[in-house]
Amino acid sequence: MTNQQQRVDAAFRERFGRPPVLAAAAPGRVNLIGEHVDYCGGFVLPMAIERETVMAAAPRPMAGNAPVARVHSTAFQETVEMRLVPGGSLPSDTPGWSRYVAGVIAGFLDRGATIPSFDAVIDSTVPLGGGLSSSASLEVATATLLAALADHAISPLDLAVLCQRAEHDFAGIPCGVMDQCASVLARHDHLLLLDCRSLDVVQVPFHRHDLLVLVTNSNVRHSLDDGGYAARRADCERAAAILGVASLREATLVQVEASRGEVGDKGFRRARHVVTEIARTQAAATAITHGRWDEMGELMAESHRSLREDFEVSCPELDLLVELAASERGVIGARMTGGGFGGCTVTLVEAARAEAVIAAVTQGYRRETGRDCTTFTTRPAAGARLMKETAFSTASE
Ligand code: ADP
Ligand code: MG
Repeated sequence: MTNQQQRVDAAFRERFGRPPVLAAAAPGRVNLIGEHVDYCGGFVLPMAIERETVMAAAPRPMAGNAPVARVHSTAFQETVEMRLVPGGSLPSDTPGWSRYVAGVIAGFLDRGATIPSFDAVIDSTVPLGGGLSSSASLEVATATLLAALADHAISPLDLAVLCQRAEHDFAGIPCGVMDQCASVLARHDHLLLLDCRSLDVVQVPFHRHDLLVLVTNSNVRHSLDDGGYAARRADCERAAAILGVASLREATLVQVEASRGEVGDKGFRRARHVVTEIARTQAAATAITHGRWDEMGELMAESHRSLREDFEVSCPELDLLVELAASERGVIGARMTGGGFGGCTVTLVEAARAEAVIAAVTQGYRRETGRDCTTFTTRPAAGARLMKETAFSTASE
């Protein structure tokens, strides 16, 4: 068992007095390119990271007249009870974290699944709230586990969409579907080219085994107005309406340029980012497929510039991290990743140079900002999986 599996196993035994019999694991994700285009029906290129949420469980005989789940989070050191019946509303004092689980349970009940009483422990190595989608990994781990517990067949894509709906309806976050798709569909040593309009997926092989993906958290969050995200979405919808298209996915750069007068300077720049970022993402998938890594580096630099100048979602700390990384030897490319206004950057770096680059970036960041950034490296990891008892709790029986 891995350290994490041991921790989950021990927490389960301590909490519930018996071993878990099955577990599901689902990774967090990082997006290499294709930022702020998911809600415009564009392309994104995420990959799963080597950090995951594990949910271990064991069924329990039913007591009382309805099945009940007892779910414990090691991160919050809290156990929540949920009735497993359709339409069961959550008490208002339900902890926020359990809403993601409750939303996924509700999604299965809506599909007609019968979920038996069970106990579960959740443990995650994805940093919570760090922009690496611990929330989607929690949802997808829960869904993967429930499909097994309830013996309920569901396609990978339906599972991702169910998880997205759980986050919308139960956590109140109007997220795109990228995070859940990446957590479900990712493959080891592959990137996932996802068409957010059709939900078609292409697995892009990440051939260079000498490269690592370095994720650097700026550890800042400028929530000036937390309407930043909603405002960008609204800008894009307005630009699309003026252009007479359903979403900016349908617009060309020529159309966007021609409508500058009508859309206004800000709307023009927002639309230009989306249209060029969609093209860059497709170009990135092609470049990686054909081993043109210099081109990938240029596309990442151009993506960052567009997010900073046209979409205005970067910040000085992210710009600094990108600049520090990009000036180091052995770096293919670097850019901000995620919604922006803080959070993380992503850097493609030669494995042999990773330590030196991390040292240079960390020192430069501290020198310029007085702050510490947090870093980790990963290879493109596999998506969600179920671990049966043989692979899980028997080792310590
Ligand atoms: P991100 O997805 O970028 O990590 P979010 O704010 O979207 O950040 O999601 C973080 C929230 O997801 C946490 O505050 C918590 O409610 C829930 N969550 C994630 N992982 C866990 C966990 N291991 N246990 C309980 N809740 C979790
Ligand atoms: Mg999230």
